[in-house]
Amino acid sequence: MTLSYQLVKEKKLKLKFPSDLFINGSYQKSISEKSFDNISPIDGKTINQISFAHQEDIDKAVASAREVFQKGYWSNMPPGQRKKILLKFAQLIERDRLELSLLDTIDVGKTISDTFNADLPTSIDNIEWYAEIIDKLFDDISPSSKEYMGLITKEPIGVVAAIVPWNYPLWMAIWKIAPALITGNSVILKPAEQSPMSAIKIASLLSEAGLPNGVFSVLPGDGPTTGKQLCLHNDIDSVAFTGSGEVGKLVLQYSGQSNMKKIQLECGGKSPNIIFADCPDLNAAAEASAYAIFGNQGEVCSAGSRLIVQKEIENDFLDKVAKISKNMQPADPLDPNSFAGAIVNTEQLDKINKYVNIGKEEGANVEVGGNITMKETGGCYFEPTIFKNVKNSMKIAQEEIFGPVLTTLTFSNFEEAISIANDTEYGLAAGVWTKDINKAIKASREIRAGTVYINNYEEGVDSTIPLGGYKQSGIGRDNGYQALENYLQVKSTWIKIT
Ligand code: NAD
Repeated sequence: MTLSYQLVKEKKLKLKFPSDLFINGSYQKSISEKSFDNISPIDGKTINQISFAHQEDIDKAVASAREVFQKGYWSNMPPGQRKKILLKFAQLIERDRLELSLLDTIDVGKTISDTFNADLPTSIDNIEWYAEIIDKLFDDISPSSKEYMGLITKEPIGVVAAIVPWNYPLWMAIWKIAPALITGNSVILKPAEQSPMSAIKIASLLSEAGLPNGVFSVLPGDGPTTGKQLCLHNDIDSVAFTGSGEVGKLVLQYSGQSNMKKIQLECGGKSPNIIFADCPDLNAAAEASAYAIFGNQGEVCSAGSRLIVQKEIENDFLDKVAKISKNMQPADPLDPNSFAGAIVNTEQLDKINKYVNIGKEEGANVEVGGNITMKETGGCYFEPTIFKNVKNSMKIAQEEIFGPVLTTLTFSNFEEAISIANDTEYGLAAGVWTKDINKAIKASREIRAGTVYINNYEEGVDSTIPLGGYKQSGIGRDNGYQALENYLQVKSTWIKIT
């Protein structure tokens, strides 16, 4: 389907905005009847009231998740049957693709072209990929002595809480729930308070696909209440979290304060993108470098937010990036031709603005942008912004801004480039541009990050390749076979042969 502005506007008029909790196969209000305002950053208007899950709702969802897990309706279902249900789920997402895309666009202000052409297809691919591999995995037999047979099998962990952020609402949720469900777990999804609607909607699609009641619940609410209570719950076996490092550290503490539940963390980044003077194509590198920070309004965990350029090409290269950024201005997120949309809310907009002011006070120069824009819409928009003369010790080079703000630094030689790249508490991603294969491989080995892009930046997002962080960017991986480990535990069975 090709999107037109007209089609998107017509669909929006007919849209129903989901608002309730989903527990044990049905939508319901929270027991306390509490709710919170759901505001769109496109125009600052309230969309609807979302039911707010508190402790008693969590207890109810956990009890039904545990009961169905123990009864084995899903956990003991043959993998080939689980596969069929998830493949059906993927088909239903495809059927409702425009509706789900719109729910995310309206909730967080990202463009309809991003949600419809990127987030939705990649979510569908992710579900299909996990569905397709589950009946092709085998367990192991140990090479023990003849008197014994050692079986090494994998079992679902039990009840998993998935706590996810707002920047790719559906996509980040699917990265958790597809591998968690396919391995036989019960899953409780807590969407970010800024983006609850697509999460609530997919609960009905999972039921329609044939998922037994109780296996999947959705509990909207804020972090300090719903998120914290989930993490402290003694009958939840695992928390799969994507969000900031600050909250990731709290999640680890909550595990220690409760039942030592297994924790997987996908956290933030301040990723370096190194452009060597022997880069094979400076135009392609400039295009990718601009996209790496201005795509999705810069609200990307692995954004290439620190551009590290070899001194002799600095001016030419920054001119190219600056020119490209002129075509990456925010515009109406509902227009399929818009490159960028709104920032998620006023708090995030203020945070970006604050960092731009800090950068100026620290002595860096704003080369491009630097301002809040489109105020007449009532929404939250920020210009693509480029800082020059940045030192890596500055706050704007060390802290995750999570907006369209590029900090640029320079280096003289390979060692200096790697040293700047690694001088950060994060280690999520990095880019390296050079035509020297030895230099590229050496850089990839020396950079302490979970993903290194050589002569591209985030071009291919792919369910087969694990994504996750070194250092304070996280623990564990999403995607690939590796993500299954988050949701499985290992059982060793010793059989004596007489
Ligand atoms: P956040 O940490 O504020 O919130 C993430 C989730 O945690 C939300 O659902 C929130 O309600 C919940 N939460 C907040 N406080 C909590 C608490 N005390 N206990 C339990 N849960 C709590 O992050 P955000 O602002 O929603 O998202 C942006 C962050 O996510 C950025 O740091 C970004 O880099 C990171 N992120 C990482 C990846 C990755 O794959 N590594 C992907 C996307 C986003």
